[in-house]
Amino acid sequence: YPEDDPAPLRPPASRTQSKSRNSSVTGRMTVDDFEFMEELGQGSYSTVWHCKLLATGQEYAIKRIDKAHLKRHQKEQTALAEKNTLVRLGSGHPGIVRLHWTFQDEWSLFFVLDLARNGELQTRISQIGSLSIECVRYYAAQIVDALGYMHSKGVIHRDLKPENLLLDDALRIKITDFGTGKLLDSGGEPTKTFVGTAQYVSPELLEHNESSKSELNMTPSRPATCDDWQKIKQLEYDFPEGFDEQAQDLVRKLLVREPDQRLGAGSTGSPYDMRALRSHPFFAPINWSTLWSDPPPPLE
Ligand code: ATP
Repeated sequence: YPEDDPAPLRPPASRTQSKSRNSSVTGRMTVDDFEFMEELGQGSYSTVWHCKLLATGQEYAIKRIDKAHLKRHQKEQTALAEKNTLVRLGSGHPGIVRLHWTFQDEWSLFFVLDLARNGELQTRISQIGSLSIECVRYYAAQIVDALGYMHSKGVIHRDLKPENLLLDDALRIKITDFGTGKLLDSGGEPTKTFVGTAQYVSPELLEHNESSKSELNMTPSRPATCDDWQKIKQLEYDFPEGFDEQAQDLVRKLLVREPDQRLGAGSTGSPYDMRALRSHPFFAPINWSTLWSDPPPPLE
């Protein structure tokens, strides 16, 4: 929790405490429909629990958001953005966490989400040091595929980073954390709000407070030098020794100052359709049609 807000979130209300009405009466879900098992993690205004829907035995992740905290920090828009973007994305892509239901009680909002049992990709990267080139290719391809879908639905994420890439049972990507997500109108106009994370922010966001669908920003690792926003603006970065040549070429074509000059942005009839990105030589070994059914390479 931030230091100015030490109060922990309340545990989910028990059956007797709950002020939410019973789903069998109202037809809506309540906490009573779930068994809350272990806590999976905490965010700045939420706690995520591993849960089981009692009626079916199906397991989910339930994100519990404290209403008072949202109000105190004027974060209502963040929760709303998360819900609206996830609703628009629906169940249409295996690489994006699906929002199954939402409900609320007096104190909390509840989002019932796909369970990603294997946690954050960032944790794995920290454990392993750096991923094998096969893993990088596989996960980058899954991100590109999921982003293509997301953008086709008029959603931009605006805070893509390994902490927001979860891994499911089969160690496939599930993109999460749409609190910074934005719904675009059909014109796909850039947006003008500053959101995101320092190390992964784009030059145009720093300079003009502007973000667009050309948001895919692959950095070779998470170099400390990227903390320096001046370097982001000037596109100053180094490749570590032995960095795959084709991956270097791909990164160079993505880290371009002009958003519409980035590979995959606006280069074909249907803008932002990622075709140029998919056909980059780095992705040559990828079979895009079996990407979500092929087993992942060993995570190492
Ligand atoms: P912040 O709100 O500060 O950006 P956050 O996005 O990590 O942080 P949450 O979305 O509440 O906050 O997630 C808290 C933790 O719970 C995450 O770090 C993640 O490890 C875990 N988690 C979130 N969603 C899921 C999920 N669908 N399946 C499994 N674990 C999850």
